[in-house]
Amino acid sequence: MSVSAGLSATADADVLVAGGGVIGTAIAWRAAVAGLRAVVVDPERGNAASLVAAGMLAPVSESFFGEEALLRLNLLAVRRFPAFAAELEEAAGQVTGLRREGTLAVAYDPDDHAALKRLTVFRRDAGLGAEELDGRACRALEPFLAPGVHGGVLFPGDWSVDNRRYAAALRRAAHLAGVRTVRDSVAEVLAAAGRVTGVRLAGGGTAAAAAVVIAAGSWSGGIAGLPGGLDGVVRPVKGQLLRLRVPAGMPPVLSRTVRALVRGTDVYVVPRADGEMIVGATSEERGHDQTVTAGAVHDLLRDAQSVLPVTSELILAETCAGLRPGTPDNGPVVGPAGPEGPDGLLLATGHYRNGILMSAVTADAVAAHLTGRPAAAEWDPFRPQRFLPASGRTAPPGPHEASGQVGVRPR
Ligand SMILES: Cc1cc2nc3c(=O)[nH]c(=O)nc-3n(C[C@H](O)[C@H](O)[C@H](O)COP(=O)(O)OP(=O)(O)OC[C@H]3O[C@@H](n4cnc5c(N)ncnc54)[C@H](O)[C@@H]3O)c2cc1C
Repeated sequence: MSVSAGLSATADADVLVAGGGVIGTAIAWRAAVAGLRAVVVDPERGNAASLVAAGMLAPVSESFFGEEALLRLNLLAVRRFPAFAAELEEAAGQVTGLRREGTLAVAYDPDDHAALKRLTVFRRDAGLGAEELDGRACRALEPFLAPGVHGGVLFPGDWSVDNRRYAAALRRAAHLAGVRTVRDSVAEVLAAAGRVTGVRLAGGGTAAAAAVVIAAGSWSGGIAGLPGGLDGVVRPVKGQLLRLRVPAGMPPVLSRTVRALVRGTDVYVVPRADGEMIVGATSEERGHDQTVTAGAVHDLLRDAQSVLPVTSELILAETCAGLRPGTPDNGPVVGPAGPEGPDGLLLATGHYRNGILMSAVTADAVAAHLTGRPAAAEWDPFRPQRFLPASGRTAPPGPHEASGQVGVRPR
């Protein structure tokens, strides 16, 4: 399906994107760069997962054994990200905070070290670099690590981006490329004669468009008019995290992301260039609840402090909770809505733990669909059709359908 093939001269837009998180905004920007008239509709409630996330670009640390197709997609995503970010910074005139110092994964005790070694084997099998270090070598890289840290592994290919700066740069670039924004919610996708005609807005009225992309993160299923089966595919998975600040006069605490296994629990600390440090995260199945709980703040601080005792001297600047858009197989849902959906309806949602990482390749894939070009082959297993009733994959998921988790408490 390409938009130009079904373009209506009366439509307000060639493509209307429902959702202005990093996924929707990246798609709108790339569509506009490809010459399409793009509109983003978002209620701008300020609770997008894209603004909460830690911004790790970690293709494997978050993987589960048995998720090879997802791993291939994540590897494509991490390879693509630097060029996409460079083009974005140029277009927006703003930095994204991309950092390529790698990630140091450390183990708190011998059991944690054994789990970390399994992850290292998995990474090497995927062709990725992993350098094993003893406790002393870990502290030589990151002097603030606790003396008791048992050992670790340096993953040079796991990077990070400042997701808030990145989201702001995407919005700026989209605006400069001519993308229009509408502050409202999409209530329903409208179609006639088997083809999308636009959307009905929650605030009243309609907007006409030749193509509609559903990119509303964990709220995607609340939009009416999706083909049967696709409305129940995305579920919210709550994640709480903390933003700490290094006090004035104190030197930077970390020069790269540190992930730690602490008595079987995974905690990460992601440093930003401006002295902010992100500590995360919980993983909870609580519907659309976005409250911050005292227990989560306590547990995250306790685990971070076990490996970085200096944590207690840092400023607790912000606590927040976001909703990862999860799916039954932990993979994203990207592409035309399939044989049961109207022509011109696409989905770009369900990015779960890796939406920042996958935003660039998702925008590439959707722009390809919109302009009649093929998307990268890595996307083939992640088409929406896999969740239509005939495929038998629409049952509500357990927390993690894939077995053999590498880490212990996933982001
Ligand atoms: C604690 C936490 C840590 C994370 N860490 C990382 C990480 O380190 N690396 C990584 O790659 N990913 C991470 N993620 C995952 C990542 O944040 C998400 O996968 C990604 O942000 C999803 O982007 P999105 O644009 O699809 O959704 P969102 O960012 O949630 O945006 C959805 C948008 O849709 C809008 N919307 C809702 N309903 C409607 C409607 N009816 N009509 C129009 N618009 C609507 C909302 O207002 C919102 O702006 C993390 C997530 C969490 C919660």
